[in-house]
This record gives sequence, structure tokens and C-alpha cells, in this order.
Amino acid sequence: MKSWSIIMLIPLVLSLGILPSLQSEITPNAEALISQGKALTEINSKKVCGDMLCSEISDNKKEIKNSEIITAKKGLFPSAMDYAVTGPEIDPEKGYAVIEIGDGLYWITDGNYQMMFLTTGEGVIVVDAPMGLGDKIQQAISDVTSEKVTHLIYTHIHKDHVGSAGIFPKDTTYVSHIDTADHLAMKNDSQRPVPTVTFDDKYILMVGDQVLELSYIGPFHSKGDIVIYSPAHKVIMAVDLFHPKAAPFQYFGIARDMGEHIAAHDKILAMDWDIIISGHEPILGTPEHLKFNKEFTLQVLDNAIIAMQTTQPSADYFGDLADKCAELTVEQYPDLKDIKVSPVENCVSMVFYAMID
Ligand SMILES: [Zn+2]
Repeated sequence: MKSWSIIMLIPLVLSLGILPSLQSEITPNAEALISQGKALTEINSKKVCGDMLCSEISDNKKEIKNSEIITAKKGLFPSAMDYAVTGPEIDPEKGYAVIEIGDGLYWITDGNYQMMFLTTGEGVIVVDAPMGLGDKIQQAISDVTSEKVTHLIYTHIHKDHVGSAGIFPKDTTYVSHIDTADHLAMKNDSQRPVPTVTFDDKYILMVGDQVLELSYIGPFHSKGDIVIYSPAHKVIMAVDLFHPKAAPFQYFGIARDMGEHIAAHDKILAMDWDIIISGHEPILGTPEHLKFNKEFTLQVLDNAIIAMQTTQPSADYFGDLADKCAELTVEQYPDLKDIKVSPVENCVSMVFYAMID
């Protein structure tokens, strides 16, 4: 074919849409690469590349699709499961341990409180900032990355878990449930800056190469309680719902609504995860730990009901009910850590729930 006839054919080829279809043969999209089992070697918010080829993600694709693509190469490290059995050594001089439990996902604990942060390539996302950890949080982050903190997520309102949130730069983006933001606006506490990004039901936070799904499943502990989920790592964070391998803190972690508290167990167990960051204890949690806590909680409910059925009226009737329920509970779980710390207080919560809720 003479060169002039090729030139004449170009408008025809374009008008028939032949070039775009040829191009898509040459440049497969990211989903196609993943379905073929090809590794994604370079990812940012716009471009997805396989071993040889790149493709642009068109803007009209659903956000959730992008999150699946972005996180396709990330996962939990098998060694993380060891920390669900025994907690890490805490350097007494530092007063904390910082451990990467999955690609770019770090766990900080001082043996009592816990939090997490993620490096993204575009800044650090911090989830919670316990009051007792203070400046150690920034120290721990600096131990492992030179990235600056750009986002902080509040799991709920309580100072003991978020009371150091004010240590980060002024331009940090604070994210929370709307109820947490309302509460903090009322408190006017410089150490708990009022969030500027809030949500009611669900929020997907995508920064660099990390994606977190934030969801509200009801006030299982205090106010504005949310669940933070990394689908890539199968790690979930839900704070002050329970203590892995230990009895609950008094009044079931000062749960304001026992019905919501109990229901949260099944809602979280229905999600697909391997590790839970519970906010307390020296260890990470597993689905088995949470299942155990659900059984324990329902057993205390049974004990409260038995106490109501077998206790005679007296001047201190509610005290007698709680004592009877506590006695049964301690007998049933003699080896559980902290079982003797506050069995009566836990039974007080459950007796009132069984009786009047
Ligand atoms: Zn709390």
C-alpha cells in the first residue's frame, strides 16, 4: 500500500473506533492483570502497572474497585500471629514496642495500651494516640519511617485512647464518626483536635498505597465508636470492646448500651479478618479471642438471670443479685486473667440489662 493511502485510512480507522480497541489489546487494564495473577509492581492513585505495562484507572470506576487494586500486593505477616499468643518485649528505656505486622502496617504497644499506624508512601495514617504514650508515638513512628503524619483517625471519644492526638502537625487531617466530632467540639480540648473529616455510616480512606474502611456499627462502648478495617492485611481495629484472653474491664468496659455491646461481637465476627487491635493487653487479638469474649459475656447474662430466679428479696436485693452472679462467673472461669478484678461490677451491668433493658 502506498504511503498516501495509509494517511487517507487514518480518519476511517479513528471513526470506526478501531485504534482504541487495538490499544486495549496492547494495554490490558489493572483488573485483567490481577485476574491473570500478574504482580502489580508500581501503584499510585492514577496509574497501575504490571511487570511490563501500565494502564490509567478511569475516574468513573467505583472507589471500592480502586481500593482492591491498590491493596492487591499487601498482606499480614505470618509472624503477627505469634503476638496473639505472647506480647513483644518492651524496651524499658523506650517504654514501647513498634512492630510491622503487615506491609506498612505497624502496631505500637506499651504492654497495656495499643494503637496502629500505616505508612502509605504519601504520609502516615495514625489510628488513635493514647494519652499515656504521648511523645513516644512520634518517636515510634520515626523509628521506622521518615514519612510525616498526615492523617489521624479517632476510634472513639475517650481521652485515654486519643488524648495525645494534639501532638501532630497543625495540617494533620483528623477523621472520626460524626458523634465523636460533636463530642470533641463540645469539649474544646487542644489535645483532641476536632475532626474535619466525619462520616455517619461508612468512609473509605485512601492515602498513597493504603486503604482503610471505616464503619459505624453502633455505640458498642461509648460514643462515636468505629471499626477500622484494612482489607488488604485482614486487620481490624475496634477499641475497648474486649480484652483478648482476659476478663472485661469493669462494667464491661463501661459499656453504655449492653445490647449494642453484645451485638457488636457478631457484627465484627461477620467480617473477614485475622487480627484485631483491641486497644488493650500486651497481645493482638484473633477471631477465637473475640468468640470467647462473646461466650463469656452471654454466660454472665445467664448468671444474672439465674441470680434473679434464685435470690430472695432483701434490703440490698441488687447487691445480692450481683454477688450471686459474680460468684457463679468466677467459679466458671477460674483461670481467666483478671477474672477476680471486677466480677461484681460486670454483673451489676448485666443484672440491670437483664432486668430492665
Ligand atoms: Zn474507651
